[in-house]
Amino acid sequence: MHNIQAFHVPLLTSYEAINSSGHVMEKGKKEVRFVADVMVGKLAKWLKVLGYDTHYQPRYHPGEIDMFVRDGRILLTRHKRRAERLSSVAVLIRGNQVSEQLIELKRELHLEPARSTWFSRCLICNAILRHACEGVAGEKIPEYVLYQNRTNISFCPLCGRHFWPGSHRERMEAQLKEWGFPFKH
Ligand SMILES: [Zn+2]
Repeated sequence: MHNIQAFHVPLLTSYEAINSSGHVMEKGKKEVRFVADVMVGKLAKWLKVLGYDTHYQPRYHPGEIDMFVRDGRILLTRHKRRAERLSSVAVLIRGNQVSEQLIELKRELHLEPARSTWFSRCLICNAILRHACEGVAGEKIPEYVLYQNRTNISFCPLCGRHFWPGSHRERMEAQLKEWGFPFKH
């Protein structure tokens, strides 16, 4: 039997509820979940890298996005009218490049993901990855990877993909650091 353990991912953002006279009524932290529309697929990918629960699909049926919003997700869109219609639960993304978009969102929503949540989700399915212990699915993973990362291999319970630290991840970490996401625990 494989020893499987799910990552625990508390992803919080600070918020302040302000009343009409500008007084802070409520202050705290809450989990943020997103639904990204078809125009911000790359942004969705990077949010998943950071560990945010981000639903994205390349095509939505009419009313489908609204369903995700009703379920408590914040809509990310470049569509001005769509953002206006769902104004209290939508963020209009203005930047063209994914770097600008991510920095914009980080600033607007005060995103401060802990370093421990990075790379905790499958970039395809958005599912939380699980630790795969020694011996798991050995055939699918190159031998040198197993040798170097015995305790650091994880897998997606939905699609079965395996993930491990490597040069690809290092490049993404460097990129995130450049965009202002420090290695904070
Ligand atoms: Zn997956």
